[in-house]
Amino acid sequence: MDGCIFCKIVNKEIKSYIIYEDNVAMAFLDINPLTKGHLLIIPKKHYERLSQIPEEEMKEFSKSVLKILKLVEEKLTKDYNILVNNGKKAGQEIFHAHIHIIPRYGEEKLFNWTTHKLTEEEANEILRKFKS
Ligand code: 5GP
Ligand code: ZN
Repeated sequence: MDGCIFCKIVNKEIKSYIIYEDNVAMAFLDINPLTKGHLLIIPKKHYERLSQIPEEEMKEFSKSVLKILKLVEEKLTKDYNILVNNGKKAGQEIFHAHIHIIPRYGEEKLFNWTTHKLTEEEANEILRKFKS
């Protein structure tokens, strides 16, 4: 898609450090890594979010994702976070679907989540939404 930086990476119009590529997917290093080896997996075709990938294409993409995960485990570490930011409020900045792979080495302080105990009322409210 015109103006999409990840499409430009796919088309090799801008430089990236590619660690894996096949017909449907590509994995390259994030330009602002959270940890050493932080990489992004993308479908080569432009979709804004993962849920827009057609089922048959998703099957092929998933096979590539699996290969890349195995590569990461073999070459870097078996400890990593898989992160998808879907939508602006979730922190998505590049609207070409991508999966972050963030290797963990033990010392880094990431994702300081503030949680609360799930209440009965809250749980029922969400369940009602899914059942309606
Ligand atoms: P998002 O917040 O959309 O999930 O993450 C987008 C990611 O893409 C960010 O982590 C950002 O550092 C990375 N990024 C943005 N522009 C480029 C680029 O031109 N090249 C590479 N390799 N990564 C990029
Ligand atoms: Zn794109």
